[in-house]
Amino acid sequence: MKTVNHWIGGKPAEGVSGSFGPVYNPATGAQEKQVAFASVDEVDAAVAAAKEAFRTWGTSSLAKRTAVLFAYRELIDAHREELAALITAEHGKVHSDALGEVARGLEIVELACGIPQQLKGELSTQVSTRVDVAAIRQSLGVVAGITPFNFPAMVPMWMFPLAVACGNTFVLKPSEKVPSAALKLAELAAEAGLPDGVLNVVNGDKAAVDRILEHPDIAAVSFVGSTPVARYIHTTGTANGKRVQALGGAKNHMLVLPDADLDLAADSAINAAYGSAGERCMAVSVVVAVGDTADPLIEKIKERAAALTIGPGDDPASEMGPLITKAHRDKVASYVSGAAAQGADVVVDGTDFTVAGHESGHWIGVSLLDHVTPEMDAYRDEIFGPVLSVVRVDTYDAAISLMNSSPWGNGTAIFTRDGGAARRFQLEVEAGMVGVNVPIPVPVGYHSFGGWKDSLFGDHHIYGNDGVHFYTRGKVVTTRWPDPSDGGINLGFPSNH
Ligand code: NAD
Repeated sequence: MKTVNHWIGGKPAEGVSGSFGPVYNPATGAQEKQVAFASVDEVDAAVAAAKEAFRTWGTSSLAKRTAVLFAYRELIDAHREELAALITAEHGKVHSDALGEVARGLEIVELACGIPQQLKGELSTQVSTRVDVAAIRQSLGVVAGITPFNFPAMVPMWMFPLAVACGNTFVLKPSEKVPSAALKLAELAAEAGLPDGVLNVVNGDKAAVDRILEHPDIAAVSFVGSTPVARYIHTTGTANGKRVQALGGAKNHMLVLPDADLDLAADSAINAAYGSAGERCMAVSVVVAVGDTADPLIEKIKERAAALTIGPGDDPASEMGPLITKAHRDKVASYVSGAAAQGADVVVDGTDFTVAGHESGHWIGVSLLDHVTPEMDAYRDEIFGPVLSVVRVDTYDAAISLMNSSPWGNGTAIFTRDGGAARRFQLEVEAGMVGVNVPIPVPVGYHSFGGWKDSLFGDHHIYGNDGVHFYTRGKVVTTRWPDPSDGGINLGFPSNH
């Protein structure tokens, strides 16, 4: 069986801990690979390689860094298909979706190619007589990233390209369920000319994460994953003196007003709820239907759901693939039966579903629940599967009050033709990313991505300007080139004159 190892100091590093985890092909249910789990010593080796590399990379010219990033951009572009195939083989998502995630990750490499513009700093001349003030931003040193299973390539690319562009060196701990795409990205970075040790990949589980959180040579940690782990990473990392941005889970609501284009709303609900089998932090998992919208909207969603093709991600006919593990499949299915027991109407029940010839795959069909209420588990928990709940409300005010009671605040969307209502919604809703007739409003690379409340712990959103701020620290330099008339004793607090 193939073993997926680490990438340390610019080359593959065989795992020596003796500890391994399984890597499945979700479409067949077969374990096709094992992934080495890094010990404390192996994490330390990666951090030491990054620390050594920082000595030269941290002071390398912007021209040198951007030359590498431009070359890297071309290499990723040329290897889109290979990266997508690796993603589909371990995650299960369909090929077009995997290609989409590579494209969205590549956006951040492209942003990083323009890093000189972001790092220009500020200068004020003559703030006082012969005194100038410059504000500059400098790299932090060794920084780390810990990423989830659902975007094996994109989420790592939200982090390290910008971090290294800012002059840091990086240790990445990908999800142990989907380790191969991150290793391929590291290999391509080396091919692009990134010096050894600037980007390291250690595979592993909680033990590796805990070592990252306590390692004295790591200055900052970016995390993307579930809310309980995000909270733990933020609490532990900051207690250890690190800068931390920890993006967590979500329960994204899509508000449909009575004047909305219901065909557009139904298409959008299907795409955003069932795309990637619902395993997206920006998936829509709740439709809030106002007034008499619910019946016709549900009818339209139901029709469309019946026409979806579910199958292996490498089959071009498939629109939705399997779930990540058998255990996760069973948990998702339990929410559908649980909702029925708690009084919801199961309009579409996808729990009894398999694909001929792939019976051991982690299959589930799509489910649609109506008359869901806020007390039900299907409403309260992040299911992270193809289960869409519909909550019926009478008014816009009832909808916004429901949505703002959610502990999460990642993405949200409103569907309406009323500009005034949309404007009010974008100001009133408590979420970090808002779509107006856009169901999955993932910001483009030059705007930052991040949620509110339990969807993000820390002060910085990820990538965009916030990303640059997160991976740099500010310094303000006040300069006077003396004149013979300067000097003299003055114990007062410096003031401008
Ligand atoms: P997860 O929290 O289980 O794992 C994320 C990472 O943390 C992995 O690398 C894993 O090895 C590590 N980890 C897991 N348990 C740990 C523990 N107890 N201590 C230390 N480290 C631990 O998340 P997942 O299941 O891989 O990903 C799905 C979750 O990620 C969903 O909740 C989804 O909403 C969220 N997510 C959020 C965003 C966002 O931008 N907000 C993006 C993608 C995914």
